[in-house]
Amino acid sequence: MTEKEIKQIAIYGKGGIGKSTTTSNLSAALSDMGYKVMQFGCDPKADSTNTLRDGSYIPTVLDTLREKSSVDAHDVIFEGFNGIYCVEAGGPAPGVGCAGRGIITAVELFKHQRIFEELALDYVIYDVLGDVVCGGFAVPIREGIAQHVFTVSSSDFMSIYAANNLFRGIQKYSRSGGALLGGVIANSINQGYSREIVDDFVSRTSTQVVEYVPRSITVTQCELQGKTTIEAAPDSKQAQVYTSLAEHIAAHEVSTIPAPLGVTELQQWAAHWSDKLLLQAEGKVAAGEAI
Ligand code: ADP
Ligand code: MG
Repeated sequence: MTEKEIKQIAIYGKGGIGKSTTTSNLSAALSDMGYKVMQFGCDPKADSTNTLRDGSYIPTVLDTLREKSSVDAHDVIFEGFNGIYCVEAGGPAPGVGCAGRGIITAVELFKHQRIFEELALDYVIYDVLGDVVCGGFAVPIREGIAQHVFTVSSSDFMSIYAANNLFRGIQKYSRSGGALLGGVIANSINQGYSREIVDDFVSRTSTQVVEYVPRSITVTQCELQGKTTIEAAPDSKQAQVYTSLAEHIAAHEVSTIPAPLGVTELQQWAAHWSDKLLLQAEGKVAAGEAI
């Protein structure tokens, strides 16, 4: 008998951009579709899975390992909404050691104990802080752990900058069997220009937008209840957007190598958009018009 194929997905993005919110809603929507999902938080903040567990924190893999010398993987897996398996890799004590260490340790522990196979998972979704693609944070991309990488980005330059850096990491590791890019999840897209900026960036870097997620007060309300939008507002428009995201990701098969912009190219791109937005604000060009 062949083992069921597990789809492993890594979601990267700048801190505060909406990775955990998007990832938790994606996990919740996939579990509603009948898939068995594990959400693997890889941010030293260890707050990835909160909204899957009524706002409560779980002990991290690294903290548990500090207390006990040998850890059974089951001790660091906690059940969340709809039976989603929640894990937080955790980080070192502030100011000491490599922030990515928790990811390496947790992945090794799970691999060694063959936990993904035992739980017969359909999806493992890694929620990874993407400001720095240092050794630890690159783990889900390197070594063929994840097959597909998605990045959450708004139209803010710093988040595009982080996405471009991630693309450089993917391009680099692609030569040694690393994960490839599925696309960009555009978050907080409300204004016309924000969509245009992200669209322009993806077309210049040979990738695609998998979903446009608006900034929505429903997300804020649900978060205040410690829940995902899928759980607390399942009939909302925003829940439909997250369900559509989950459908696109479930149907996604082929990821590719992105074409990141060089340093000068990225500067020129930013300057171009700065001029364009200024002219739009002054009413000299209409949105969508070339300058
Ligand atoms: P990250 O995991 O990237 O650090 P979070 O997912 O924790 O970011 O999001 C940061 C804040 O932004 C949270 O309070 C979250 O509720 C809010 N947020 C993210 N996406 C949206 C959205 N589409 N609409 C409204 N609020 C959002
Ligand atoms: Mg987060």
